[in-house]
Amino acid sequence: MTGTTEVVIVGAGFAGVACARRLAAEPRARVTIVDRNGYHQFQPLLYQIATAELAPRDIRFDLGEMFARHANVQTRTGEVDSIDPHGPAVTLTDGSTLAADVLVLGAGAQPNFFHTPGADQLTLPLYSLDDAQRVRGRILELFRDAAAKPELIDEGALTFVVVGGGATGVETAGALAEIVHDVMPHVYPHLAIAGAKVILVDLGHTVLSAFSEESHAYAARQLQHRGVQLRLGVSVKQVTADGVTLGDGSTIPTRLVVWGGGLMAAPLAGRSGLPQGRGGRIEVNPDLTVPGFPRVYALGDIANIPAADGETLPQLGSVAQQAGDWAAGNIIAGIEGEQRQPFRYKDKGIMAMIGRKAAVAEIGPHRHELKGRLAFAAWLGVHAQLLANAGAEMRAFATWLDDFYVRPAHRSAELLDPATIDQPRIRTEERAHDGTEHTG
Ligand SMILES: Cc1cc2nc3c(=O)[nH]c(=O)nc-3n(C[C@H](O)[C@H](O)[C@H](O)COP(=O)(O)OP(=O)(O)OC[C@H]3O[C@@H](n4cnc5c(N)ncnc54)[C@H](O)[C@@H]3O)c2cc1C
Repeated sequence: MTGTTEVVIVGAGFAGVACARRLAAEPRARVTIVDRNGYHQFQPLLYQIATAELAPRDIRFDLGEMFARHANVQTRTGEVDSIDPHGPAVTLTDGSTLAADVLVLGAGAQPNFFHTPGADQLTLPLYSLDDAQRVRGRILELFRDAAAKPELIDEGALTFVVVGGGATGVETAGALAEIVHDVMPHVYPHLAIAGAKVILVDLGHTVLSAFSEESHAYAARQLQHRGVQLRLGVSVKQVTADGVTLGDGSTIPTRLVVWGGGLMAAPLAGRSGLPQGRGGRIEVNPDLTVPGFPRVYALGDIANIPAADGETLPQLGSVAQQAGDWAAGNIIAGIEGEQRQPFRYKDKGIMAMIGRKAAVAEIGPHRHELKGRLAFAAWLGVHAQLLANAGAEMRAFATWLDDFYVRPAHRSAELLDPATIDQPRIRTEERAHDGTEHTG
């Protein structure tokens, strides 16, 4: 290519931001990064928002500020409605069109409810900052209502159900158990909080199924030790306004179900006209371009990125971030008239935080196992790097670590006050229904 290469990036998640960051140093590229929110949200700390450990501002990073010093990167807040992969070009919901020489799709994922009746309307997923604020608001409301009318506890007002025993479900259940059993008794000392329950439900017979057997047992023990009840080997059949019906016919009265049951590609994938595979995700070549569309890249959670073993890479922050950086390298190769290179993922391993001093980590491609404080340190290292690579500030970690180690059951009064809940926007996008389990 000659002259300036116009690159349009859809989505400012780990993938989109990493791609824009690398291209920011390439004067022959002019980048427009579009996101519906106008900010980057750090998903690995969403459950800390949901359980009032952190404030939304701690994990929300304004895109304009992130790229203020880069004249060749423009940021735009807007919802991409449709894609013309041939142009390539995208059209926003305000009717404007952005034409590109190269289009990069990093629009992420959405919850997959697997056609479970009631789940779409009545459960709260945990995928965005808005979702996390909704969960926090609901927890605070339920405690406030139960304090005013304690008989509601028998009707499930303080029974919190988490669906999904993957990393998101386990981390959420662990954090919920802490706020319910360790924090709220200080806020409502006269409430019979002994009646409060956190229940994790999963169809599988273990939690953290992507991890080793030893990690399954460790995670289950740690959750139970924190007061989480496990209902494993049973499916969620239906969710209603006042409870959950399980596959064995039993019901759990509850007013809050957090859905960590699965993920699928963002709705934009279905409107892209591009080839979709497992989970509705866009299929990509080893060099991260879409088959048949050499000027269109798909990265991160919206893409099925081939792994060296013939499988696809998991939906993880490090996969998205490395793919974003790699795609930028391939775009620069294109500018220089060189060949694009197949993506090589540097596997950092998989990890999950169960609660204070309890984490599991399986490090590197050989899955060296760690538990407890060492696993926590590994988790911290990998996530601090993700945060720094995104160009974000580290204050979220500093705040959280302070609470984590120094003031265990502490929460700021601001975050525990139902009156301070920001009103998140209502989800507007439709959801397609086809997908796979969340592995991250
Ligand atoms: C609760 C939770 C905890 C997690 N914990 C970890 C962890 O500990 N470690 C780890 O490695 N991974 C973790 N993950 C997974 C990791 O966060 C994702 O794999 C990663 O965020 C994917 O990056 P992405 O750039 O593909 O998409 P995302 O980060 O989801 O970004 C997609 C962006 O696209 C924007 N967008 C979507 N559609 C449109 C549209 N139509 N128009 C405009 N903008 C649009 C969205 O607003 C969003 O900003 C976690 C995920 C969740 C949900």
